[in-house]
Amino acid sequence: MATVSICSGHMAAAACDHEISNAQKISARIANEWPLRPSQDRQTRYVQKIADQLIPVIKLNMDSRNLNWPSKNRWRFLLIRDLAVNAYSAGNGQVYMTDGVYSFADSEAELAAIIAHEMAHELIGHFCQHDERLATHSIGSFTQVIDNTKELEADALAVEILQHAEFPPQAMLTVVKKLPVPQAGINNQRNLRIKALQHQLRHAGTVPFIASPEFIHIKQEAVSGNTLHK
Ligand SMILES: [Zn+2]
Repeated sequence: MATVSICSGHMAAAACDHEISNAQKISARIANEWPLRPSQDRQTRYVQKIADQLIPVIKLNMDSRNLNWPSKNRWRFLLIRDLAVNAYSAGNGQVYMTDGVYSFADSEAELAAIIAHEMAHELIGHFCQHDERLATHSIGSFTQVIDNTKELEADALAVEILQHAEFPPQAMLTVVKKLPVPQAGINNQRNLRIKALQHQLRHAGTVPFIASPEFIHIKQEAVSGNTLHK
């Protein structure tokens, strides 16, 4: 994963009927090609812990939205031992993040924003839609799909999720602002996302989000490549 991106897209979309099998295929390939952290190590459990704070509030507050949930309501968050920054959804509730996400995020609020954004792709049903007008970039043997509309939709829902879960929603904006500019011009994807988030958050004010000692410790372990803690 040579590129730096936080969900510049998601894995190639599947027809809804095929979302589960497609996600299984993608996950098998990822497990084959990339070194995954054990599901019980500290960095992975911390991501799961934050996700576990988000899932019940989504159910509680957004039940009327007809959201798309993974089969058996099962979400899986897996960490890849790679310091390049990347996060993406494979569909059917399977979300992958690199260790680099820990170096990128400066607080658990920003980590929660990245998790919420990836969950939002699933919840909106992006893996049930056919993609048009797509740009792509390759990661290993994978092709990530870049779709501005879906990124804007996922950002917007992530802000709502963060608000319901009492994480500062401004963290979604700070995450997007930190992304590298992938292309020149005022209408590049990052600028569009920043403008949309600034509009959505125009009444939210500014809230400082301070990293907890637990987050800092887990981040330092991830970034230092310390893989012995379980
Ligand atoms: Zn995305």
